Amino acid sequence: MHELNPCKNCHEDVAYLETEGDWCVYVICGHCGTHTAFQRYSNEEEKKEAEKKVVELWNMGKVVIEARVE
Ligand SMILES: [Zn+2]
Repeated sequence: MHELNPCKNCHEDVAYLETEGDWCVYVICGHCGTHTAFQRYSNEEEKKEAEKKVVELWNMGKVVIEARVE
């Protein structure tokens, strides 16, 4: 599996790689919903690249923080 840093927003270590309808992938925090941009792919090879890319984005802190009011 990919190494994911703790969430930049809530600092929980519950981020995971999510696939959407088998055409794009992103990393999302299971706690607060902060996520990276979606990365599209159209085949298995591109999928691996896309996964690597979103993991990189996540670990660089290039994320979209959801403004969720509890
Ligand atoms: Zn979070």
